Amino acid sequence: MQQFPCPFCGLRDEREFHFAAEAGKIRPDTTQPVSDADWAAYLHNRKNPKGETREVWIHTPCAEVFILKRDTLSMAVLGCEPLRKDIP
Ligand SMILES: [Zn+2]
Repeated sequence: MQQFPCPFCGLRDEREFHFAAEAGKIRPDTTQPVSDADWAAYLHNRKNPKGETREVWIHTPCAEVFILKRDTLSMAVLGCEPLRKDIP
């Protein structure tokens, strides 16, 4: 069983975490018309990188979202940081 770090709770069992999104993905500006193709691409297309990646995860017990850095080849966890910069 792997352990993931939550920036708020520390190391916890991986079963307490859920993947939310790839980090840095920009939501289409919905104040302007968005084509079905652009919206579908935003919702469904992922880079799925091989190696080091930054992803948004949620820790279910504390309900906080954060950035998890990990290596998709070795499954090594490389670090974590709060998603919001105003949280110490
Ligand atoms: Zn937590």
